[in-house]
Amino acid sequence: MNELERAKRIVVKVGSALLVGRDGAADGHWLHAFAADVSRLRERGQQVLVVSSGAVALGRQRVGLARRPLTMPEKQAAAAAGQSALMRAWEEAFEPHGLAAAQVLLTRDDTEVRRRWLNARATVETLLQLGLVPVVNENDTVVTEEIRYGDNDRLAARVAQMIGADVLVLLSDVDGLYTADPRRNPDARHIARVPRLTSDIEAMAGGANTAVGLGTGGMATKIAAARIASAAGCATVVTLGHRPSPLAALEAGERATVIEPSTTPAAAYKAWIAGSLAPAGAVVVDAGAAAAVRRGKSLLAAGVRRIEGRFGKGDAVIIRDEAGDEIARGLVRYDAADAARICGLKSDAIEPELGYTAGPLVHADDLAVGQAQAAH
Ligand code: GLU
Repeated sequence: MNELERAKRIVVKVGSALLVGRDGAADGHWLHAFAADVSRLRERGQQVLVVSSGAVALGRQRVGLARRPLTMPEKQAAAAAGQSALMRAWEEAFEPHGLAAAQVLLTRDDTEVRRRWLNARATVETLLQLGLVPVVNENDTVVTEEIRYGDNDRLAARVAQMIGADVLVLLSDVDGLYTADPRRNPDARHIARVPRLTSDIEAMAGGANTAVGLGTGGMATKIAAARIASAAGCATVVTLGHRPSPLAALEAGERATVIEPSTTPAAAYKAWIAGSLAPAGAVVVDAGAAAAVRRGKSLLAAGVRRIEGRFGKGDAVIIRDEAGDEIARGLVRYDAADAARICGLKSDAIEPELGYTAGPLVHADDLAVGQAQAAH
């Protein structure tokens, strides 16, 4: 599978049914083989993030509620009890490979409210740079029914979008998408590639939806996840997880469905900054900074003349030259009050002034140059 071999960043979603056995305990064998898979990718220079379910499934026995359907508070209690068992299982699996896991618990707000999104992204980026394997789950204990993801397929897609991943692998109990339900219809054909998500494809996903005992996501949630990923420039791969080392199997040509991205991660991110966010204020810059920003460089406080409007950290701002022309849009790293205090200051004077530094006013990665007008 070319996508997987070429990818720089890979998000792999592992469902409860894969890592929790029928006895309610973590399946050490599967986890060890999967850790070997992750280790091999890492040695090739690829970054891997795991989105792992299993907290509720592992916690059930601990809270003495192994059998019956759980109420929402019971589920949350089970998740609290099971999350630590889940992390222990991941740590034990990674350790022989010299890899360290890092727990990241997110809620929907963390992936949708921009400031929290930026914070979560910064943490995950740092973990990846430090060489750890982030293991992400929904923070089940603090979310109510209305605000939870509920399934980790969509959470995984949001995380893939957040870190600009190239590939999202959804390890599943089916080896991909079929034209009809393969268990009921002998004419069902496997679909290897989906260049574009159409309504026909969505309809098929409904038909081939499988209900598994432990997990919550069927094929429909996988398609919903693929839709998010595709728009973010990330390919989605749906394949069978129930084999040892499923990523190696994928590379060896095992069956899967690849849903292709409709753009690149960088272009998707810049288009989002340029087009989807209402700017909360403006930053007026001198000629030197204007030229630097036009060349795609970060905007430093030193080149800022004036701040306009009231914005918070992480908000979108317009960057204008002194003639009033818009040069770019970007996500600002300081709120308006702090930005005003550091106008014109050199980078090493920021910390003495504010007591902290968040780096450049707008980092190059968070700048969309020359796209803003086109988006309107
Ligand atoms: N967050 C849930 C758990 O860890 C799982 C959600 C899902 O299965 O997609 O138990």
